Formats: sequence, structure tokens, C-alpha cells
Amino acid sequence: MNWNRRIQALAGTVALAMATGFPVAAQVPPTGPGIPGNPVSPSQIGDTSAIAREAQGWLVDLIKINTSNPPGNEQIAAMYLLGVLAKDGIKAEILDMTPGRSAVVARLRSAAVANPSKALLLVAHLDTVPVEKGRWTVDPFGAVIKDGYLYGRGAIDDKGMLAANLAAFISLKRSMARLNRDVIFLATDDEEGGGDASIRMLIAKHWDKFAAGFAINEGGNVFLKNGKVQYAGVQADEKVAYNIAVIARGTSGHASQPTKDNPVTHLAAALARIGNYSAPVHFTSIVRRYFEGLAVLEDDDIGKWMRSMETTDRGEHAQRVISDASPLWNAMLRDTVAPTMLTAGVANNVVPAEARANLNVRLLPGDLINGVVNDLNKLVNDPQVRLEVQPNAGLASPSSSLESEFYGVISKVVSQEFGGAPALPFQSTWLTDSAQLRLHQVQALGLVPFPLTQEDLKRMHGDDERIPLASFAKGVDVLSKIVVEFAVAH
Ligand SMILES: [Zn+2]
Repeated sequence: MNWNRRIQALAGTVALAMATGFPVAAQVPPTGPGIPGNPVSPSQIGDTSAIAREAQGWLVDLIKINTSNPPGNEQIAAMYLLGVLAKDGIKAEILDMTPGRSAVVARLRSAAVANPSKALLLVAHLDTVPVEKGRWTVDPFGAVIKDGYLYGRGAIDDKGMLAANLAAFISLKRSMARLNRDVIFLATDDEEGGGDASIRMLIAKHWDKFAAGFAINEGGNVFLKNGKVQYAGVQADEKVAYNIAVIARGTSGHASQPTKDNPVTHLAAALARIGNYSAPVHFTSIVRRYFEGLAVLEDDDIGKWMRSMETTDRGEHAQRVISDASPLWNAMLRDTVAPTMLTAGVANNVVPAEARANLNVRLLPGDLINGVVNDLNKLVNDPQVRLEVQPNAGLASPSSSLESEFYGVISKVVSQEFGGAPALPFQSTWLTDSAQLRLHQVQALGLVPFPLTQEDLKRMHGDDERIPLASFAKGVDVLSKIVVEFAVAH
């Protein structure tokens, strides 16, 4: 949808809102009863300890609502959010996607007529990945608090962020601060599945309800190392996912008389070669700036190699040292290929006619899948084996600006709040809803604002996911400050 059509669609929404009595000027001081809380002045909004305690309660409740995807069942969580927002006089809207799956949108207005190009979107997803219950030491949906941690599926990804967004949004409403831009709260569905209830479809159906110029979402993290924040990685771009089927064909027959064209052995040989593949290093401007910033923070040895990666004499060696030091760094520097699934055979004593594997490929922004396919074909070099790029690949999106006022505000608040630790631009190796937003001209930046160790980050999508309660409260505070700094008229 082009910009003009978006503006027209929005003008229609405002007219409708006025006609139905939807609070167009939600930020005017309350004149009647029923407005809870003690209004604070904008200067006092910095004290977020009370709202952080409330937000912890919302996070507990959200964890207890099982939104494992599939099937998601986000509608129940959506209704819960509707109730929380209503308590503060915020009229949210439920956007039904598919049966049982609904997104939520709510808006604090800065003016009677919305200016979508200025609006700030706070986005988080309602669904979580499933659990392997037997591998957890606590009930994944019990929201157990133990040793200063809150345990549960979604504690970090992404119900923690959802609760923090809610806290920043509600505290802004309570402050009655005058806004210089609309602030929109959006809870999305099916982020983990990317299907018919996902942000792609949400944008297609309801873009006019949350069109914005800026967004803060998951995607980046605050990295805690040796008890203090080392840096905040602010996600400004992400890699693009593809799947490639590796298909080996041969003659089926009796396993008692094997032949050399057995597709299982041909597939295995192809995968062994693919497993050793390492794509060439390619620096995007975000990755270059990330390593420049990180080199200063790492120990002397690692820092030295980070700075040498683009030198002519030691570059190749430096790239190898850095890639070997961290799977994340390796994946930030190059396209990656990971075999993830194998299928072959119908019985123990039958040689099958076909054997298949799936390769999950993550491309750097700007790289083309054909480049990887050509490299792999050369490597496999077997007429019995064919590579097939699968449909439904991720979409390449433009990166968000590192020169914008928005990026500047996040950098400033991060540095102030984390004892001088810098914000570094981050290109995530994983996918987020931000790619779809960036394709709609949104300056989306990713920052899960909770300081977390590598050990806790690894539990996302894993067992015993948990968030330190102190980190959660700190993240609520930091996110609220970012929103106030960017959206409150000074
Ligand atoms: Zn997530």
C-alpha cells in the first residue's frame, strides 16, 4: 500500500473514531471520575518502581495464559490485555485474525488528526514457542518465582517485552504528559509461526490502525557480562531466512542387493560436504560498526582481531579467529547453512528411491540465494542430488537508520541508564516482525531492554526460560524513559 492510500485510510479512521466517541484526545487532563491513579507531572515519570511491580503481575498473568504456537490461542491473552488497558481508561481494539487468534491495538493521541509518519509503535508478540514440559524443572506456565527469577515460557520472549511495553504505555497515559507524536501499543500474533495470523496479514488487513514511522520491538538485547552491562545491541536489520531441499534420487530395490546409486548414501555424502561449507565474509555497514564498537569493550586479544578483520595482510586470519570465538559473530559475518531435517526410507529392508534433507539458510541483507545455491551445487557435484529453493522465504527489508533522532534517543538513554555502556547497532541472525514493518517504511529498532547474561539468553526457545526480576524492573524503567524521551513534548 502506498503512502497516499495510507493517509486516506487513516483520515477515515479518525472520522469514524470521532463519530463513535472513541477518545480522540486521550491525553487531555481528565475532567470526571473514574480516572485511576495519582496524576504525575512529566518530570516525575522517571520513577517507575511502582509500575514495574504492577508490570511483574501482568507478566505473571500472561505466562499463565498458555499461548504456545501452534496453536497460539492468542485471543485469550488479547482479552486479558484489553482488560488491563480498560482499567486505565484506555480503549483498546481487538483485531481478529483467524479463529482463536487476535491482535490488540491501542493508541495515545498527540493531536486530533493522526500523523502516522511520526507515530511510535510499541510492538511485542503474544505467542510463544512450545515447551518440552518434561525437560523443565518447574511448570512452564506456572510463573514460578524462585531465587530472584520469574520462570515461564515467554518470560523473555516475548511476554517480558509485552509487559514492559504495557507499562511504558500505561505510565505515559497516567502521566497525562503532552505528546509530540502518537504512541501506539500493538500486540501481535503468530510471530513464531509467520502464518495467516502473523504481522504480514495484520498489516495487510489493518495497517491503518497502527501505521507508524517508528517502532520499538524485540530483536536486540542488553548483554550482561561479569555482573555489568557490556553493551546494548540495538537491532537495525536482520538476516533473511530461506529453506533449501536437498533431494537425492536413485533406484529403489531390495536391501539385500545394494547398488552404488543408493540415494541415502548420496544424500549423506552431499550433507557432509555442505556441513563443511563456510560462505565468504561480507561486511554490512551495521556489522562493521558493531565490531568497531565491540572491539573497545572486549579483551585486548579479541579486540585486536576484531580491528584486523578488514586488513589485507591479517584479515583472513582475523575473520577466522572471530568466527571461531562465537557462533553469533560467525553468523553476523556471513551467510550460513544449517541442515535441519532428514527424511528417507519406508522400511528397514527397502532401499528408497528418494532421500531428502532440509537446509535452513540465513542470508546477510543484500545477499542473494542463488549465490549460495551455486556454491553448494559446486560443492556437492553429484548428478543424483538436486537443490531446490523452497517457497515462503523471508523478505529482505531495508535497514533502519543509525543516524535518526530515534536511534540517538535509544543510545542516550541506554548509556545513561547502564553506567555508560554503549548502544551498538546490531544485525540479528534471527527474524523478527520488524522486517515486515521496515518494508512499510517504519524505522523499527529492536531492543529487549532487560540486562541478561548469555546463560539466560540461551534459555529463550529452550528449557527453564526465566527472567531475573531485577532485570525486568530495570528494563521497564529503561523502556519507559526511551518512550518519554522520544514521545513527550519537552
Ligand atoms: Zn520473540
